[in-house]
Amino acid sequence: MYVSMKDMLWHAHKNNYAVMAINCVNMEQAKAIIQSAEEEKSAVIINISPRQMKAHGHGDILAPMIKGMAEKVSVPVAFNLDHGADLEDITAAMKYGFSSVMIDSSSYDFEENVRRTQLVASLAHGMGLSCEAELGHVGMAKEADNEKVDLYTDPQQAKEFVEQTECDCLAVAIGTAHGSYPKGFVPKLDFDRLKLLKETLQRPLVLHGGSGAGEENIRKAVAYGINKINVCTDLFKHARIATAKALEENPEIDYMDLCIVAQDAMKEFIKSYMRVIGSSGRYDFDKYEGPEFD
Ligand SMILES: [Zn+2]
Repeated sequence: MYVSMKDMLWHAHKNNYAVMAINCVNMEQAKAIIQSAEEEKSAVIINISPRQMKAHGHGDILAPMIKGMAEKVSVPVAFNLDHGADLEDITAAMKYGFSSVMIDSSSYDFEENVRRTQLVASLAHGMGLSCEAELGHVGMAKEADNEKVDLYTDPQQAKEFVEQTECDCLAVAIGTAHGSYPKGFVPKLDFDRLKLLKETLQRPLVLHGGSGAGEENIRKAVAYGINKINVCTDLFKHARIATAKALEENPEIDYMDLCIVAQDAMKEFIKSYMRVIGSSGRYDFDKYEGPEFD
């Protein structure tokens, strides 16, 4: 079923697990993600950023395709604009039929972030969509922004932020970063801060920069209150490695078969990740425990 992120993330919040939010730019990725969710009886979120949309996965093509695929499965699937930066991108996503939007004004000061998020959250809610926001700033791994503690999310400020904006979930900065970390580097996450954020906010929290954070960090982040984990780089990497290997083994491989190789490799990765973060089996309709959907 095609839904917003709201109910699935509150279900994850109440039951202490996390849902994957996976970046997707084409049909093979959409199929891999939705089939994995169905097979694992798990909710899932499909993400796309404005940059990815402009470069390849155009929203007007992807949204109806994803919606069509989602409506054929029994598990909840959301389609979320990742890191919407301006109103133009956000209203375009709404027009295309996304079920959720993120407004990322985390590089602005607190008041401006509140103002922008309030506007987008009220627009989104008016259309039955969910809205994600970010406070504190999750930077890029290659720039080592993730070690700048002054960019981490402050729990008291975050409380004020969610009360004023009414965003459905909040991306917090606790030490992860976007993209690939330097080889051998495992980020150190501020779990005390995460624990305090969860106690203070009592709502779904989001971890960006999940790729390369290491399984131990991910498991602990979920245990301490993360309910949505964004994964992009790791998924693309699995597709690339499987494709390169298939080409090396058989340079004459048919293009369609190559697409299927990538899709299967992504499925394997996604399904094992879903088990790690505890979303597998939550939507087993023989013994249904999930929330009601309209
Ligand atoms: Zn992000």
